[in-house]
Order: sequence, then structure tokens, then C-alpha cells
Amino acid sequence: MSPDNPLPEFDLINRFFTRTTDDKGVVLGVGDDAAVLSAEPGTELVVATDVIVEQIHFPAYTPPHAVGHRALAVNLSDLAAMGAEPRWATLALSLPEADPAWVEQFATGFFALADAHNIALVGGDTVAGPLFASVTVHGVVPAGEAVLRSTASDGDGIYVTGCTGDAVAGRLCEGTNDNDHYLAARFLYPAPRVAQGRALRGVASAMIDVSDGLHADLTHMLSASGVGAELDINALPLSEELIASAGEREAATFALTGGDDYELCFTVPPEQEPALQSLSDSFDCPLTRIGTCTEDRAVNWREDGKLFAVPAGYSHFETEGAD
Ligand code: ADP
Ligand code: MG
Repeated sequence: MSPDNPLPEFDLINRFFTRTTDDKGVVLGVGDDAAVLSAEPGTELVVATDVIVEQIHFPAYTPPHAVGHRALAVNLSDLAAMGAEPRWATLALSLPEADPAWVEQFATGFFALADAHNIALVGGDTVAGPLFASVTVHGVVPAGEAVLRSTASDGDGIYVTGCTGDAVAGRLCEGTNDNDHYLAARFLYPAPRVAQGRALRGVASAMIDVSDGLHADLTHMLSASGVGAELDINALPLSEELIASAGEREAATFALTGGDDYELCFTVPPEQEPALQSLSDSFDCPLTRIGTCTEDRAVNWREDGKLFAVPAGYSHFETEGAD
């Protein structure tokens, strides 16, 4: 950060971002010019960065606790989609003003999720500027075992964790009744499916996390794999809260095109189905089969057997195209 900047940078870092860790892989954490980290032999590092920017990825006046949670959650979701175990994070935080109350709440949200997933904050940068948080996460997998998006095959089943469509409804709703509170929490506090992603290593043939809408992300995975799919609209995992709030038709549109779900979409070869069934009992979220990969590269959603045209996304949705 520049020396003429008014933010009391070291004070903020010391107060809110410097913590001891018992992670043996952290040779040196926050406080020097760079962190020194040590990964076990036989593992590979899996590294991802996602940035969230005020008014693009979250509305102004989003509670700082939720911004802290979300900044890490969207990154953990990328590690989950690779089947990786989270280890270390760095955080670049740009703040319009040095408001200690805001930063404290942000850090509380960030560390609550970090602790839940055993990921240590080992460094970062703090600057004055428009409000955004850029997090880089480092995870590990046994060498050669990361789950890619390009390795689905004809005949593999297509699955999704949790329910899709809640988050976009939560972002748009007024938040006045229990339903709306549930949906708003699904937007503000996405639950990255880290345990599920790790467990699916060796079972899923390909995997992607759903950040831009189920249809768009699924299509990315299918085209990277050189396959298409037959998919069932009636199989979409829709929460009761979403249906109650939006109606069945709109709920399906939200689920297909909404975005911000941070669920996992993955494919499973027929011979791995029994392994998936025994895993699913240990998942704390629903697991739903929505279709099957096909050699034909078309991506066909069907409703009662008839082709269903996926509606365009919502033009008033601020994050559209802003991943
Ligand atoms: P430098 O000028 O060497 O880059 P900084 O003042 O930017 O030093 O950072 C000092 C230390 O604080 C470094 O270890 C850095 O990684 C850490 N740090 C700075 N900002 C953050 C942050 N937002 N979160 C975690 N660590 C941070
Ligand atoms: Mg720096």
C-alpha cells in the first residue's frame, strides 16, 4: 500500500488478520514479506482466485460479516469442485475507508468459515480503494487425483448437490417473511460443498461448481468433456421456499439461470453408482440426478419428454456476465 494512504494498515492487519495457526504446513504466516508453506510429498497444490466487488457481486450495504463469509466461500467452492482439501488462503482487501467496526465484522465472517474448513489465512494486502475482496485459496489433492471438468463420458449420470435457484431469489427478495429469510441467507451465506467435493474424488468423472447458473456451468463441463446431455426439468432440485416464493415455473428458471448457488454439478460413470449411493448417506445435503451424458453434443432439457427452451437470464440481475 502507498505510504501516503490514510488507512492505518498495520493496525488493521494486526488487529484483525494476524492469528496463530497450528497448521504444520505454515512455516511462516502473516507478518513477513511473504508466507512460507510446505506441502506433503505426493500431493499437488490446487490454487484458485475469485474476486467479489461491491455492487457487482454483492449489493451495497451487504452486512460486512456476510461479505467476509462470501469472499472465502466462493473460493472454497472452487476447491470443492476440484476435490481438493483447503489449506491456505491469502486476502487482498480494498476498502473505501478504514472503518474498524466494518473490518472486524468482515474478519469475523471470514474466520468463522475458515475455521469450519480448516483453512489458514497466511497473507494478503490491504489497500484504500473501491470495496472489493480478492481471495486466493490453496488446497491439496493426492497427486493426479484432482477432479477436472473435462473428463465426463457418454452414459455418465449427471448430479447436483443441494438446491439451485435459491440464491438469486434471495438476492432479489425483500426479506420480510421466513421464506424470504431462508432465501436471503442462501445468497448471503453460501455453503461451499467442500466435504462432498473431497468425498467425490475417485467417484465423480468430472465436476464443476455452480456459480453462474446450473445450465451455463453444466454446459461448460459438458463442452469441455466433448459430450452433450439429456436432462429432466422435472428432476431439478427446487426448495419448498423457492417454489413458495416464486412459483414452480419461475423457480425452474431461477434454478437453471440464476447463479450464485455454489452447489456442485458432477458426473458419475455407471460402475461408480453404488459408491455414490453409499456416499450420499453421509452428505448433509440432497443429491439429485438430473440427467445423463450423451455422445450427441446437444444439451437437451426436457419437460414431460418435450424439449424445453432454457430462458435467457434476467437482464436486471446485476451480476449477469460479471463472474
Ligand atoms: P509488504 O509491503 O511487504 O507487502 P504489507 O504491509 O502489505 O507488506 O503486509 C504486511 C504483512 O501483512 C504481510 O505478511 C501480508 O501478507 C499481511 N497482510 C496484509 N494485508 C493482509 C490481509 N488483508 N489479510 C491477511 N494478511 C495481510
Ligand atoms: Mg503488501
